[in-house]
Amino acid sequence: MTYEKITHGLWAATAPDRPRLNTFSGEKETEVAIIGGGYTGLSAALHLAVDGHSSVVLEAKDIGFGGAGRNVGLVNAGLWLMPEDVISLVGKDHGEALIRVLGASPQLVYGLAEKYNMDCEAWPHGTLHCADSKAGYKALQERERQWQKVGAPVRLLEKDEAAEKLGSNAYRGALLDERAGTIQPLSYAFGLANAALKEGAELYNNSPVIGLEKTASGYTLTTPHGRLKAKKVIIAVMGYPEQAFGDQLNNLIPFNYFQFATAPIPKSVLKTVLPGKNGAWDTNLILSSFRLDKNGRLSVGSVGSLEGFAMDVNRAWAKRTLNKVFPQLGDIELEYAWYGRIAMTPNHIPRFHVMDDNMAMVTCFNGRGIGPGTVFGKLMAQYMSGGSPADIPLPVSPVKAVNLRALRGLFYEAGSRLYHYAQRRTPIF
Ligand SMILES: Cc1cc2nc3c(=O)[nH]c(=O)nc-3n(C[C@H](O)[C@H](O)[C@H](O)COP(=O)(O)OP(=O)(O)OC[C@H]3O[C@@H](n4cnc5c(N)ncnc54)[C@H](O)[C@@H]3O)c2cc1C
Repeated sequence: MTYEKITHGLWAATAPDRPRLNTFSGEKETEVAIIGGGYTGLSAALHLAVDGHSSVVLEAKDIGFGGAGRNVGLVNAGLWLMPEDVISLVGKDHGEALIRVLGASPQLVYGLAEKYNMDCEAWPHGTLHCADSKAGYKALQERERQWQKVGAPVRLLEKDEAAEKLGSNAYRGALLDERAGTIQPLSYAFGLANAALKEGAELYNNSPVIGLEKTASGYTLTTPHGRLKAKKVIIAVMGYPEQAFGDQLNNLIPFNYFQFATAPIPKSVLKTVLPGKNGAWDTNLILSSFRLDKNGRLSVGSVGSLEGFAMDVNRAWAKRTLNKVFPQLGDIELEYAWYGRIAMTPNHIPRFHVMDDNMAMVTCFNGRGIGPGTVFGKLMAQYMSGGSPADIPLPVSPVKAVNLRALRGLFYEAGSRLYHYAQRRTPIF
């Protein structure tokens, strides 16, 4: 079974039927080979097909097997970093373009969901970034200032208004971002796949790329049962690289994130929990996130895996956090638990690697990949169908291993476990 309960949890249980795809076999030719069937690869295939270019997506496992099928489903506008930090890290030209395209990325996601009639709980109702401390509130004031400076519809809500929108008194205020919202992340990946198929792209699952060779006329990609010849290649393996791309793991910091989903909340209580169906998360360094789904389940998530004793520690933390933030839920059962690996970079900026003019990848969305994956897939399609690297609003960087990557990953994992362990014992108020 591709989608395990512990990795794809609620999303696999509530997604519509997955697209039934064949395994790649035999010999084929295409203009653009796309490696990876997540948002980036699928969006690239869809946009190439719309522009009349042939492409073949080779997915190692199944559509949405990577981050796309495991995430929280917050369709955010922009990166974690504040706009001015983005500019100082990548420069004015790239930075301003990046802020512009990623600021508009939820629009692209929701626009595609509507255009292709995707069954994916696409709720563009806004998100709430909640202040859990005085310092957090100050940081949100600064975030509001920077986003408003570029004309974004964000507004810092005082405690009372935030409490109304959240259905909780737990926070000091919240930054409402009207561009953003939530989605069922695995269903959205299925929706993109169906749209790409409809427009004429070819998609295969259980077809890991195990070899990639440059030839006189392009590239030859090898899978266990076939060979694909392509003029160009888009690599879209992100945080779940396998086989020929296993080494890519060295280029990111592994950062786990877990979620628990409640049983459906009784109707009378449901109308008091995130009544506007906003997605929410907080300013704590080890953040908490909250969101509802179509069946009235509330997901709560935070940093860490669910391996070994972390399952018990984090379950206890999730229960306590729900009691603290949404006491009206009472002793509600947690029915699903799952986690996944976020692809982080040391400076929290995604990376753009050009292996040569006809083979490239954009990777490491630092936990913000629904909008960015969709946008960068579209921009990569543009680049590979006659454009240039300048189509991508990121500096080209060499593929480079992250220093002390295992230690950094351990730091996040051990730090979050200790935090959640300590938190489950502190009094609620
Ligand atoms: C727990 C978690 C929570 C997150 N929360 C959010 C959120 O709320 N909002 C948000 O915007 N983002 C979030 N993200 C990030 C987001 O999920 C990712 O950025 C996004 O999925 C990246 O899309 P992608 O298509 O680039 O990569 P992926 O979705 O990871 O897809 C890569 C695909 O490549 C395939 N692959 C790997 N190797 C090979 C090979 N050799 N041959 C063929 N195929 C291969 C994999 O099987 C996989 O399906 C979260 C991620 C995680 C893990």
